[in-house]
Amino acid sequence: MKNVAVLGATGSIGGNTLDVIARHPERFRATVLTAHHQVDALVTLCAQHRPDLAVIADPGLEAELSRKLRAASVCCEVASGHDALAIAASGNLCDTVVAAIVGAAGLESTLAAAHAGKRLLLANKEAIVMAGPLLLDAVAIGGGALIPVDSEHNALFQCLPAEGLASGRPTLHKGVRRLTLTASGGPFRGLGRAELTGITPDQACKHPNWVMGRKISVDSATLMNKGLEVIEAHHLFGAAPDLINVVVHPQSLVHSFVEYLDGSVLAQLGNPDMRTAIAHALAWPERVDAGVAPLDLTTCAPLAFEAPDLATFRCLALAFQALRAGGDAPAVLNAANEIAVEAFLAGALPFLSIADVVDAVLAELPAQAVVDVQTLLERDRVAREAARRILRNAC
Ligand code: NDP
Ligand code: MG
Repeated sequence: MKNVAVLGATGSIGGNTLDVIARHPERFRATVLTAHHQVDALVTLCAQHRPDLAVIADPGLEAELSRKLRAASVCCEVASGHDALAIAASGNLCDTVVAAIVGAAGLESTLAAAHAGKRLLLANKEAIVMAGPLLLDAVAIGGGALIPVDSEHNALFQCLPAEGLASGRPTLHKGVRRLTLTASGGPFRGLGRAELTGITPDQACKHPNWVMGRKISVDSATLMNKGLEVIEAHHLFGAAPDLINVVVHPQSLVHSFVEYLDGSVLAQLGNPDMRTAIAHALAWPERVDAGVAPLDLTTCAPLAFEAPDLATFRCLALAFQALRAGGDAPAVLNAANEIAVEAFLAGALPFLSIADVVDAVLAELPAQAVVDVQTLLERDRVAREAARRILRNAC
């Protein structure tokens, strides 16, 4: 029996994770559930899954959560605040942690799980983008395992030789020529800059193939999501930037592929449903039913592939630039992007200006070496401040 902490239980990945867990009560139990603000949604999940502990990140909501859990006759411990997330992720109520909080807010709990030697199922890509080497060290020292949930990385994980993959000390197999991440291209694939003026948040969040949270949906529309994933792949698989390639594949059926020196290409295919990657990561190295419809290659749309348009979708190029700059540049990129996306979602920044804000913050804060989490978090704060100032001056 695996005891699973679902950090970000009320989100899109959290919900898919709980769906898979509920299909296998003999294998998995959700022992810890967490949310940020959504008390009612958390109470509903607690009533369904009966965890040992419910954590609400906003401390002001703890009393309401306790009261509503009592009213729903749910008996579990309650905690609140960001420290409580890290304590829950590293505590003895779980052996497996699904890191599914969105953004830098998930960093500390993800690191805590890794340090504590948990089996860490990573959806929170921003954590590894910000703190790749620190997170890998924590996994290696903690002695747990790091298994990617992001569909592209989960696909690559499945297509690469298994040795050392989940250990926190990955080295790319010598027989690998290149890793290729597929990108759907998002809702604006094929459009030029002129057509992207006046894009609204709802248009950007309407992804053609996946149903996801709003932040990652915007990242998919700008291709920053793919940029973050390039950085994520670099850390997860020990691949130099030049060995990572991106192709646009609008059907989202090929989730990524590995090219080998002998000409072999190993790809992982499946319907676009995150439960496949989640079930793979939960059960690895075994396989379990995920509730996902089988892929029928005789009836699905023809598979198409094209090069990404880096001139229109500049965020992908900026992510490669930050990866090559090294040090804390990816953390600066991530912080600037989080602020810019927040502003776009609030209707305060045009879609195309997201890249401009990220570019300006990267230019203002040249890469520095990553020393420890504290300096990284300080750098994150400074980058957010710079992005907010640039936004104010632009208005
Ligand atoms: P959602 O926005 O749907 O859910 C986010 C979750 O995190 C919610 O439970 C939310 O709580 C919680 N949360 C938000 N902010 C905070 C905070 N400051 N402190 C604590 N908890 C917080 O996001 P997704 O599920 O779409 O994405 C989660 C992560 O997984 C992201 O990093 C994303 O990039 C990654 N990912 C997502 C995929 C997808 O298909 N959705 C695919 C691959 C990766 P509340 O509901 O209370 O606000
Ligand atoms: Mg992905």
